[in-house]
Amino acid sequence: MKKLVVLALAAAASLAHAQAPAYPGSKPVTFVVPFAAGGPTDRVARDLAEAMRKVMGGQANFVIENVNGAGGTIGAAKVAKSAPDGYTLLIHHIGMAAAPVLYRKLSYKSLEDFEYLGMINEVPMTLIGKPQLPANTYRDFENYIRANAGKLNIAHAGLGSASHLCGLLWQSRLNASDAMVTIPFGGTAPAMNALVGGQVDVMCDQTTNTTAQIEAGRVKAFAVTTARPMSNHKLLKDYPTLQEMGMKGFELTIWHGMYAPKGTPAAIQAQLNEALKKALKDPEFIKKQEGLGAIIVNDKRLDPANHKAFVASEIAKLKPVVEAAGKFAD
Ligand code: ASP
Repeated sequence: MKKLVVLALAAAASLAHAQAPAYPGSKPVTFVVPFAAGGPTDRVARDLAEAMRKVMGGQANFVIENVNGAGGTIGAAKVAKSAPDGYTLLIHHIGMAAAPVLYRKLSYKSLEDFEYLGMINEVPMTLIGKPQLPANTYRDFENYIRANAGKLNIAHAGLGSASHLCGLLWQSRLNASDAMVTIPFGGTAPAMNALVGGQVDVMCDQTTNTTAQIEAGRVKAFAVTTARPMSNHKLLKDYPTLQEMGMKGFELTIWHGMYAPKGTPAAIQAQLNEALKKALKDPEFIKKQEGLGAIIVNDKRLDPANHKAFVASEIAKLKPVVEAAGKFAD
């Protein structure tokens, strides 16, 4: 009798084990994008969702949730406080490093409240203006800004966003304080609409959002933020770097990464990291992203521990620069 009970218990346990749902199963995994739909962070998340679905196979399904506002900090806070079960992940950018420097109070800690799943890409920025601006070269653009100080505005995706950071650093180097009023949006997709429509004058944004608009002539481009000219890019090779325009040492590259709430099981982290590695090798993903000026990282840079160390170094690097440019931080 005793033996029978033991056998029945063992059978029940093995059945339960067999039935334990494999991650992710049919339950969708949400990529929280802390900016508006249609912008560069959203774009990388959507391209990646497709590639991840392919490499994970089975019923794997990724959905995007745009949680905009406050320069990406609302979406990041949401993920930090979500259940650590692998079903809510964050796709974020340099804001992971900028927010701790720019915000006096933040409800999460970028380095402590997340599991780092890996870096995705690096994307240069472009300085662009509304199509009605009379300037056609960077020099004319700078002169126009100085001549119209106080009358112009610059759009960004909120305090601590990449566009905010770029505008902040550029204006401080321009040494034209009060030249422009800053206008925050929930992401650079709506900001781009305002720029194309001529409601705002200037923006600095990732090439993944600006390339198509520049190519179509809907905005004017004046410079790129890379250290060296983007000679390999069919469109962006035609624009000078800010260094060439006299801003010695100016270089700003925006990176994107994938993060899970702290405490996500190690096996799920490993599975996501493996899938991310494979997804970044998907030729379609590479083609889409590289066509827009992005550089996909290699396995070494992707590595979660390396990425976390990199984010820590970015926080340390941004601190003094942002503090020096602080008077423009509105
Ligand atoms: N490019 C944006 C930024 O300036 C964010 C976005 O809309 O993806 O941070």
